[in-house]
Amino acid sequence: MDTEVLGRPQATREGEHCHWSPGTGWKAPQPITVRIACWVLSTVETAAGIRIRIAAPCKRKQTSRRQPDGAVRLLLSPQVTVAGRIHLFPHRRTPCHTTMELECAVQKYAWGVHGLKSSVAQLAKAVSPDLEVSEEEPFAELWMGTHPSGPSVIKGSGETLGHYIRRHPGVLGTPVIQTFGEQLPFLFKVLSVNQALSIQAHPNKSHAEELHQERPDVYKDPNHKPEMTIALTPFQALCGFRPAQEITKHLTELPELQQVVGEENAKTFIEEPTEANLKTCFSMMMNAPKENIESALSDLLARLSEMDSAKGDELLRDLFITLHDKYPGDVGCFSIYLLNYLTLQPGQAMFLGPNIIHAYLFGDCIECMACSDNVVRAGLTPKYQDVETLVSMLEYTMMPAESRNFEGFKMDNYTILYNPPVPDFAVDMIEVPSGVEQYTLRPVESASIVLVVEGEASKVEVSPSAPGELPQVTSLHRGSVIFLAADQSLTLRPTSGSRLLAFRALCVL
Ligand SMILES: [Zn+2]
Repeated sequence: MDTEVLGRPQATREGEHCHWSPGTGWKAPQPITVRIACWVLSTVETAAGIRIRIAAPCKRKQTSRRQPDGAVRLLLSPQVTVAGRIHLFPHRRTPCHTTMELECAVQKYAWGVHGLKSSVAQLAKAVSPDLEVSEEEPFAELWMGTHPSGPSVIKGSGETLGHYIRRHPGVLGTPVIQTFGEQLPFLFKVLSVNQALSIQAHPNKSHAEELHQERPDVYKDPNHKPEMTIALTPFQALCGFRPAQEITKHLTELPELQQVVGEENAKTFIEEPTEANLKTCFSMMMNAPKENIESALSDLLARLSEMDSAKGDELLRDLFITLHDKYPGDVGCFSIYLLNYLTLQPGQAMFLGPNIIHAYLFGDCIECMACSDNVVRAGLTPKYQDVETLVSMLEYTMMPAESRNFEGFKMDNYTILYNPPVPDFAVDMIEVPSGVEQYTLRPVESASIVLVVEGEASKVEVSPSAPGELPQVTSLHRGSVIFLAADQSLTLRPTSGSRLLAFRALCVL
């Protein structure tokens, strides 16, 4: 189609849009086929690369049908009646930059890394230079998403992302709306951990519903909360139960641990290391009277201090002392002898499905999760603990630490997709080495959020544009957070001499 079909536009200066008023009762001389993304209601793009914006109400007969390539072809019939003006944008000459940049909430939980040593503070400060970062304050989490406790705001407009999505639900993508309704199903985060977070597990969906129904004051929503962690720095954590021979070794060599799990139970496990016997030991330990735990911990502390360094290392002396310093008398200090202690290297991931016991200990990471608050805690926390629920729900499989690593899938030379077995979220790790001229983030069927962790990129182009009047973004740098609507692709040119490292939360449905 060319502009002749629509009549003669009033202005044709290069790079400027022009408009044309067909007048009431105008009939198109022939059918016009236009290609539009399914969520674009007011803007269409012709095969000739010309964007048409219907700026006034337009009565039209139309048929549309979804094509295999995801686009919708809209057929304007010859009987179309247009009242108002049609705007013509010479699309190719004015590439569209309507990328939404987000300003994200910082959470200052006590366990966070203080001041500018925190990745969270660094990333937030990089995009908001006015942010005050005190060395006295912890900067624990950066939240990217629509969670009401820390909603992201569209830069330059002041509108929250959640509000924008309510106005334009189509940006979520049809599969997301079909599965989750008109809401962003995930919460994307950066964590800077300076001291252990609680020992915890997350219920599965039906258990979450049950807990919410029974105790809505504690379990505030009925959704499950699978989580995935990708390390930004060496990231230490506890995850899942150790292999049986490691637990046996610790039970044998640590009489203090035997005391708190019960000597008989320890003996039974050593003879017969089954999941049921492990559960008995763990349950006894978690339910042991506080004074027994305290005295066993101080006995162990004294004994570890006297060991030579090789034996001390073998029995996790440094970790034990660090935890005991922060949480003196806490049963969680013993948990390191039953749970896998692992360090993820930058780029390595861990998926925490339902009922997997875990605790973050130290380091910076990217985290993505289903939008939920359902955490069952016990140990290494001043928060409410629900030992009974935790003990009964856990998976007691005994597996080596390495098996907790979650492998990604290479999508192309620069993107690894970490796609856990839940529909709520997946994460792309995008690493473009310096020297690569241009890279395009593939369009996906869901809304997504992109965070730049390292490097810079110029000439950022997003296609097609998202609905609504939005501020323009033409470059990205460390800390930039971009919201992409479903089916949008983002092309960027890394600034020479710098590697670009970015993460993207999305859904694979
Ligand atoms: Zn968790």
